[in-house]
Amino acid sequence: MRNDTRIKIKGILFILMCLILSGANQMISQPLKIHTLHVHGDAHIIQTPGGKTMLIDAGSPWHSGIVKNYIDSLGIDTIDIAYVSHFHGDHFGGFTGEDGILASLHVKEFFCVNEENAKEYFNHLVLPFSKNPDIEYHVMKKGDLIDLDPEIEIRVLYPPDSYPDRGKNNGSAACMITDLRNGKKFLYMGDGLEHQAKDLVALYHDDLRCDVLKYAHHLQYESDDQYSLGTFMEVTQPRFGIITKHKMSKPGPKYHDLTIQSLEKLYDYTWNSQSGLKSLYLAKHGHITVTCTEDGIISMSASKNNLYIPPEIVASEDPGVKNGPLILTMTLSEPTWDQYIEEIRGCYSMDGGATWNEFFYPDKQLKINKTTTVLMKARDVYGNSSDTKSIEIVFPSAVDN
Ligand SMILES: [Zn+2]
Repeated sequence: MRNDTRIKIKGILFILMCLILSGANQMISQPLKIHTLHVHGDAHIIQTPGGKTMLIDAGSPWHSGIVKNYIDSLGIDTIDIAYVSHFHGDHFGGFTGEDGILASLHVKEFFCVNEENAKEYFNHLVLPFSKNPDIEYHVMKKGDLIDLDPEIEIRVLYPPDSYPDRGKNNGSAACMITDLRNGKKFLYMGDGLEHQAKDLVALYHDDLRCDVLKYAHHLQYESDDQYSLGTFMEVTQPRFGIITKHKMSKPGPKYHDLTIQSLEKLYDYTWNSQSGLKSLYLAKHGHITVTCTEDGIISMSASKNNLYIPPEIVASEDPGVKNGPLILTMTLSEPTWDQYIEEIRGCYSMDGGATWNEFFYPDKQLKINKTTTVLMKARDVYGNSSDTKSIEIVFPSAVDN
């Protein structure tokens, strides 16, 4: 081999080494991802920076196929921890039986609340079907830390050992997930309603502040619950909220009315509190994914397009200029309660995001020519900001000559 060829090869090897070493130094840590699945009940898949997986609840049994397919689509075949917030069918059901998650995936550990429930339900509905025959249950209580990934803290906030209704709605396991790389916090409430929300505030005060709040699954269960979507919101101050109602409401006037009331409270809080809260709703957005990068940037994505009420755009001629450009006025009001609720009602039937309801530039007048491209940045009725979109507006008759 000629000398200069050898030098060239050495040079290339040296450059390759440098690239590999600099790559190792700059190895980017994986984002924390939490997927909330569009099922009846609650089902959340947590993917940690270190590649671990936890499942908080698994929805109702008839939707376990959706959960399995979603997990499959993420390329996951082992669940490190299954976490049951409480033993109601819409949270626990998806884990159980021969079609349940534990029957089809290797699950290493199982966390739940309430020893008596665990003995009965775990031993009869989970263990006989479990792919991992050695799995055992662990009973969680307030103050426990769940060891999943050194970069993530999972702190069980509730229920206390002494709480009599452990395992029921207000005795759900609530937990705060903290991304220790950046301090971002994610609060998961199970079904915990007024009683649990009050207890949590009494126990933790400002430590409940979070970036993302998964609301109690049923939002509120009694019409006089002024707390869950009132004071509790002011204490927790989330920037993002996740509503895990998979349809507008359950059949029956009670739940329907309560859902409307809950959404009304959330609407009031969203628009009156200056909180900048953005809530996503399973029934409207489909599967919802929260991503938190190493440097603490949180973003939300959803499997369905947002649905929007069209803006009111009025075009008029500039009175001072004959055959001149048109003046385009966009009316950009805050959505009314009627629009808000109408949109939710229509969440399966509207036009899939082709129209937009609100702009950030109220009553802005734009002069347009034959065709004008307007950059629009919209937000929907929940305050979710959308991407900037470019539209072309054509008014041929007024400016033809
Ligand atoms: Zn529930």
